[in-house]
Amino acid sequence: MPTAMEIYKLLPKTNCGECKLPTCLAFAMQLANQKVSLEACPHVSSEAKAALEESGSPPIRLVTFGTGEFAAEIGDETQLFRHDKKFYHPTILGLIADDAEGLEGMKAKIDAARAAEFERVGQILRVNSVAVRHSTGNPEEFVEAVKTAAAKELPVVIMCEDASVAAKAVDSCADKKPLLYRATPANLDQMVELAKGKSLPLVIGGASSLDELSQMADTAKKAGLGDIVLEPSVGSSAEALENLTAIRRAAVKDRFRPFGYPTVMVLGSSEADRTKAALGVMKYSSIVLMEELPREFLYPLLALRQNIFTDPQVPIQVKAGLYAVGEPDEKSPVLFTTNFSLTYFTVRADIEKSKLPAWLLVVDTEGQSVMTAFAAGKLTPESVAKVIEDEKLKEKNVRGEIIIPGMVSRMSGKLNELSGLKVTVGPRESSGLPKMMKSLSG
Ligand code: SF4
Repeated sequence: MPTAMEIYKLLPKTNCGECKLPTCLAFAMQLANQKVSLEACPHVSSEAKAALEESGSPPIRLVTFGTGEFAAEIGDETQLFRHDKKFYHPTILGLIADDAEGLEGMKAKIDAARAAEFERVGQILRVNSVAVRHSTGNPEEFVEAVKTAAAKELPVVIMCEDASVAAKAVDSCADKKPLLYRATPANLDQMVELAKGKSLPLVIGGASSLDELSQMADTAKKAGLGDIVLEPSVGSSAEALENLTAIRRAAVKDRFRPFGYPTVMVLGSSEADRTKAALGVMKYSSIVLMEELPREFLYPLLALRQNIFTDPQVPIQVKAGLYAVGEPDEKSPVLFTTNFSLTYFTVRADIEKSKLPAWLLVVDTEGQSVMTAFAAGKLTPESVAKVIEDEKLKEKNVRGEIIIPGMVSRMSGKLNELSGLKVTVGPRESSGLPKMMKSLSG
């Protein structure tokens, strides 16, 4: 956002008061603090309006493709380093279905992309897109595969550099807002016209240097295209990292507008490509498209993405309360842990390993783990006793006992006093729970 003085210089300076503020300077100050909108001044020139909107827009444009619940949002990032604030829009992972594989092969890939999902710490992680590529195959089958992919609700990338074939593919699913890939120095004008005519985002790539890439983006913008995705050269891991970092730095730090767009990497299936995909998730590819996403590679990549795109200041949490593990009854053991997701799911998985049903009481510690919360005074005998009370544990369970984490054994006496329950100290690490649970049942 520009400063008040920068805004003031662009205002009419007539102090007419129609914005309900006494002077243009007062209006500029309110606008800089986002307390009024620019529309409140009816006398701003269109040039000033364009300049203010430009300088007030985010350093990287938000681009959306796909529609509905699964629409892919990319860009709108403001940071170079995650720890400075957070990264907002997780890298979109997509599987490429190439028409060289034939229609059935492409359909199998589309189904595989649609089905690829995992649950981790309570969140569903999935492949978010499918890219249908026209290479050596039949153009009609290519268009048919695009149509099939668009019907599956996954955001679609139409990969075709022949503008006339791409136009047919676009016509088969324009209402699903696909991402068009790509404009190169050889077809820039035709692809920009196609994207503009259908209001679709367009990938710009194939440039021999970042300079050329910026010039192509500038040309596309001047031709009236708003939603652009940049594809820098990613020949090696070092080049990928260098180019993606240069683009992010130029956009965020220098406000270099031709680089103020999200980015994409298109990769094969080799080990080197997998390294580049991981690098792209970390720095700073908005989309990674790959020819193969086998489960043994996909799961760690999704977990990496989940870690990079969580807010470093807000731990992932589960709701406090009483959870059933298996099908416990009124005599099943009761344990407690904190609402930090990673702790909760680790403890839960260790209880499940015992194959014995249990109740797991989750205490709200603002997402902190057991030791951290205990040290910070957020996990106390009082807070545990309160959840026992709130959840009416004694009415639901007649065992009259609670198992506490070994790390907080010091709270056992006070908790016993407050809750009236027998307090049993569990293992220090939850990996010891299966053995302990079995001894309880034996
Ligand atoms: Fe200035 Fe516009 Fe407000 Fe009039 S309406 S005082 S010109 S900012």
